[in-house]
Amino acid sequence: MSLVRCKTCCMPSSRPDVPFTDGECQACINYRSRPAIDWGARREKLNQVLERCDGRVIVPSSGGKDSSYIALRLKELGCDVTAVTATTCHLTPLGRANIDNLARHVRTIEVTPNMIVRGKLNRLAFELVGDPSWGEHVSIHRVPFRVAYQNKVHALFYGECSNDQYGGPKGTEATYIMTQRWASEFAGFLGMRAADFIGIEGITERDMMDYSAPSDAELKEADVTAYFLGWFESWDSHRNATVAKAAGMQWELPGPMNWWPHENQDSYQVAFHDHAMYRKFGFGRLCSQISVDVRSGLISRDEAMRIVAERDGLFPHVYFGIPAEDICARMGMTLNEVKVVLNNFTAWDLFDGVVDGRPILKEFS
Ligand SMILES: [Zn+2]
Repeated sequence: MSLVRCKTCCMPSSRPDVPFTDGECQACINYRSRPAIDWGARREKLNQVLERCDGRVIVPSSGGKDSSYIALRLKELGCDVTAVTATTCHLTPLGRANIDNLARHVRTIEVTPNMIVRGKLNRLAFELVGDPSWGEHVSIHRVPFRVAYQNKVHALFYGECSNDQYGGPKGTEATYIMTQRWASEFAGFLGMRAADFIGIEGITERDMMDYSAPSDAELKEADVTAYFLGWFESWDSHRNATVAKAAGMQWELPGPMNWWPHENQDSYQVAFHDHAMYRKFGFGRLCSQISVDVRSGLISRDEAMRIVAERDGLFPHVYFGIPAEDICARMGMTLNEVKVVLNNFTAWDLFDGVVDGRPILKEFS
């Protein structure tokens, strides 16, 4: 089986939840329809939302380009911003520096769950669903809700609706509210619930509180709502990075399997999340990022495809300057054990052979 790629960008149709119409992915179709959007009306809607929450907002944040931009933008609009950071699985020094940098601009709360439990969750989720980053994705979407609930803050602002930027089932891209149900379905939870881990290897219900939010009824009663800022204004990752950098954010390219130098600065373990994604679906981080740039005309599709063939899905022997063995150790695994799991989750019918730890797509072999 060979991949079918979007005729406009480089994304394959094997990405879950992304419909194709006439050979084009939904993300490209959405991007083209942006100029027709009444941005003035959406800005007015944003004003209403900010008025309703009295300008007190929580920005779930890793100190990265997007969350830094959101915090700075809402501060510029007059909001009282609290950045809430759910500590990543394996924080990089740059990630640390960027959290500290954002704290120069807005109030910051950092919630670090028990990291021994996190290490267990990394390995268990990796073995069960092929994704070591489950705990990270879930805590980013749960911890800020709990902080909002406890502190009686009524509005949270996430960034892009990923279904809008990268495509998603028709109908899901038009919404500006991020419900708990949306998060469970589209934010990388992969069908696993916090409760599924209770009782395994001594993990308790209390341990999993950091991976569960107040109930929908509790959130409704406390009037807590999460929004996508990317719905209210046109979303541009490069603009976000420029604004964040001007405010002191730092970045470097994590490795050649990435295209953007300003994304994924905060967790070493993303290396294996991204590599596993490439093995499951035939596209890695580079392909997603470069497809955004193809859409906006920063690079031609032909040139982008040459780079995808060369670099997408490269094995992270070294990521952000540290060896793969060190990243695996944090999950309580050896590199060989990680490779066995990766092989179990590889869609081998997409590939033909392996070079230096990277399965080669049939279309490039
Ligand atoms: Zn496309």
